[in-house]
Amino acid sequence: MQLGYFDYPVPSNEPVLSYAPGSPEKIALKKAIAGLKKKTLDIPMYINGKSVRTGKKISIHPPHEIKHTLGHYHLGGKTHVEAAITTSLKVREKWSNMSWESRAHIFLKAADLLATKYRFEMNAATMLGQSKNAYQAEIDAACELIDFLRFNVHFLTEIYKQQPVSAPGIHNRMEWRGLEGFVLAVTPFNFTAIGANLPSSAAMCGNVVVWKPSDAQIYSANLFMQILKEAGLPDGVINMVYVDGPVLGDTCFKHPHFAGVHFTGSTSVFNHMWKQIGENISNYKSYPRIVGETGGKDFVMVHPSANVETVVAALARGAFEYQGQKCSAASRAYLPSNIAGLVKEKLVQAVQSMKVGSVEDFSNFVNAVISEKSFDKIASYINKAKKDKKAKILVGGNFSKKLGYFVEPTVIETSDPKYLTMCEEIFGPVLTIYTYPATKYEKTLDLVNDTSKYALTGAIIAQDREAIELATQKLRHSAGNFYINDKPTGAVVGQQPFGGARASGTNDKAGSMLNLYRWLSARTIKETFNPPTDYKYPFLNEA
Ligand code: NAD
Repeated sequence: MQLGYFDYPVPSNEPVLSYAPGSPEKIALKKAIAGLKKKTLDIPMYINGKSVRTGKKISIHPPHEIKHTLGHYHLGGKTHVEAAITTSLKVREKWSNMSWESRAHIFLKAADLLATKYRFEMNAATMLGQSKNAYQAEIDAACELIDFLRFNVHFLTEIYKQQPVSAPGIHNRMEWRGLEGFVLAVTPFNFTAIGANLPSSAAMCGNVVVWKPSDAQIYSANLFMQILKEAGLPDGVINMVYVDGPVLGDTCFKHPHFAGVHFTGSTSVFNHMWKQIGENISNYKSYPRIVGETGGKDFVMVHPSANVETVVAALARGAFEYQGQKCSAASRAYLPSNIAGLVKEKLVQAVQSMKVGSVEDFSNFVNAVISEKSFDKIASYINKAKKDKKAKILVGGNFSKKLGYFVEPTVIETSDPKYLTMCEEIFGPVLTIYTYPATKYEKTLDLVNDTSKYALTGAIIAQDREAIELATQKLRHSAGNFYINDKPTGAVVGQQPFGGARASGTNDKAGSMLNLYRWLSARTIKETFNPPTDYKYPFLNEA
């Protein structure tokens, strides 16, 4: 029972530490990396708060140092997914009835633990497990994750405050219930923050969750589960299992109490899930919520009035930070003929200055791509471009998997605006550029809009205000996150709610109120203080 209206005002974004030479954070982070490298973790699944080990051990290696073993996780099967569902449903009622301040304080405490006690261990785990450099790990595993937890507490408080009006003699109220069933969270490898946010945002709303992280993110996900436990999350509210996708889908999507899926990952996996849910629709107790943030083919459109240095910085950072493995990464650029030569020259110089290597050497801007499968896929696009007449490698183009999965940052130039690498998501450090006649700006905007099935992020770089306005209008549906004179990556929770449309997902904007509404089911309650005692209305008297 709440004995007061407790408020959670808008938090500030967690400050990003610099890791400059000699800074205390740099020393602490290096120590945390060394500490983790000395250990071999034995990572269990978590079902009803218990550690579950199957003995089917899958080893975990840093993508940039594949000979080193960080630990292993225990692969589960159908029975573990079933156990996770059963246990979550058992605790659902108690959890959904827990007062908001108690639920909120678990997640606020987790945020504070991350900001202090576990900050460097979480960053180190993300650096080693997912091959992120120190800065990329800091903005993801520390800052974005802390922001998700704190901002969602604020947003949910604002939702709870939303109440209907009441006419005289009655009172109306709205209860923001959790869903009647379990929520399945299926998360990608590329952001520790997304991994943690998808199960915790649903749980915060009073839901119970089965969470399947990406195999390539289990190392940092494991630490988040331990932090939630320390923050007081009751057993069984979030259960983490490691199973093959088809086993997971087959078990969860056929369950009558499946209440929703919170997914981030590729478009093809999401489409497959949606089909499975459709096939089972008559088996469910409630219509499930289907939320998916999926792939992208993110553009940078450059106007003839653009500042060359701004373009080069946006492309260099936008395309190559975290090896181009951000769903928002710039992967196709349209340069006007008047400045294309200069932009290419400076971009090549910038890319040549980028060091590629291990995350432990802080001077490396580019690290390894996530897996051998991903490496092979990226290499096949580069090899094809080397052979195709329509494409030319401007810089980069080499790769090696001897020590780790290293791909040089690569710029392809194409004479065909619909060339393969202008259209398909590669998810690696590969940027394709196309030069358009500077007199054909408006026509090229149509080309940007029509080239890809995705609509996640995009940028316009221009000094001419009319050109900015035209691009903003013509590209209205080409991106869910649109940037003016900036790179198309780096969305901050609370500042740029994130998500795209078309084949990029359901656009439920992670890190905003819009997303939380999907995990709530409102009940309207009307109470009449002095109810009528006669069914007859005055108009029935014919006089
Ligand atoms: P992925 O689709 O390969 O995997 C995502 C998750 O789905 C993983 O946990 C995976 O194990 C699981 N999965 C795979 N097959 C499954 C199946 N048949 N049934 C159930 N689960 C299954 O994606 P990824 O490689 O981890 O991440 C990269 C992709 O994610 C890119 O396409 C990227 O654009 C996208 N992404 C999008 C956003 C966004 O906000 N739009 C953010 C991050 C990543």
